[in-house]
Amino acid sequence: MVSARIASIHESTTLKISATAKKLTASGLDIIDMGVGEPDFDTPKHIVEAGCNSIRMGETHYAPTGGIPELRQAIAEKLSRENLIHSAAEDVIVTPGAKMAVFAAIQALLQEGEECILIGPSWVSYEPSVAFAGGSVVWGEVNADFMPRNIAEKISPKTRMIIINSPSNPTGAVFERPVLEEIRDLAVDHDLFVISDEIYEKIIYDHEHISIGSLPGMAERTVTINGFSKAYAMTGWRLGYLTGPKETMKWVIRLLSHSVSQATTFVQRAGVVALQGPEDDVDMMVAEFRARRDLLVAGLKSLGIPCSVPGGAFYVFPDVSGFGGGDLFTERLLKEALIAATPGSAFGPGGKDYVRLSYATSQNRIRQALDRIEKLIICD
Ligand code: PMP
Repeated sequence: MVSARIASIHESTTLKISATAKKLTASGLDIIDMGVGEPDFDTPKHIVEAGCNSIRMGETHYAPTGGIPELRQAIAEKLSRENLIHSAAEDVIVTPGAKMAVFAAIQALLQEGEECILIGPSWVSYEPSVAFAGGSVVWGEVNADFMPRNIAEKISPKTRMIIINSPSNPTGAVFERPVLEEIRDLAVDHDLFVISDEIYEKIIYDHEHISIGSLPGMAERTVTINGFSKAYAMTGWRLGYLTGPKETMKWVIRLLSHSVSQATTFVQRAGVVALQGPEDDVDMMVAEFRARRDLLVAGLKSLGIPCSVPGGAFYVFPDVSGFGGGDLFTERLLKEALIAATPGSAFGPGGKDYVRLSYATSQNRIRQALDRIEKLIICD
């Protein structure tokens, strides 16, 4: 018997698929892994060096729960410079990965029985975090381009917060200023919090990233979350952060102090260098992602699979309702085409007609995947 609270949490479909893909590859099958949620690039060398130097210098002890002062300061400066969010360094909290920041923010804000609105297909870990807090998710609708529709209708007396994630995992959608202003107006009118997960902010094409926390009226009701995993290819280092109203941050620190304690001390040193160093590696990675996106979107469209053009992140989210729906198509991709992907249903009820394909894999592998998908479709 486990506790009811823990039993409310389901397994992460994305991690399960990536484990299956690794197992099948180890058994000798040529699996094209398009289920992955991490850049296929190495962490830039100057960041690795900073981490190694820190270990050599003996920075292997506990650090303050909220993070080393140098990193909190560097993040506060970055937020002010790039995101127009002006937080004091003491209101920036460093976490072991953005995932912990999401979890902690939700636990700090949501009361038992309250509702949290998710807008269309959404990242797999939001709903379990809401369930763990004793709240429930209300699914907001989106249009064909994954932009919010009729969100006002989803607001009830129990609504406490809206979570947004732009650029989005899984859809790649980017919310432009008018969309963010609409969400801002709803949040202000109904006295709601917004959690804004901006982890893909730097992996963005033809769009400008705007932080909803920078809009008038939002500073006191927004928790902004970001991290190093995607922009600097640092998924295994586990480094993220959040900022928001002082009172909320106080309770987030309390939760961290009794659970994870802090992000790894020498990893935080590497984080300072990531934020203050050159961004050439980020630019190179984004240029390559853009080329892959164009290749994959054009290829899918030429096969007659409808696919909106993602403005950011490294996923496409094609509509496979004409091919039996997301669950069946994903199963066939793995069994018949040896392509690991994630069914859209993993991202909520609005995702069932879709499949998420990650293009954190080489252009060569993407071409092979398109060939295999073509054969799969022709066989029908
Ligand atoms: N938010 C989103 C939308 C993500 O896709 C991920 C990683 N898959 C995270 C947060 C967590 O990132 P990390 O914990 O590696 O910083």
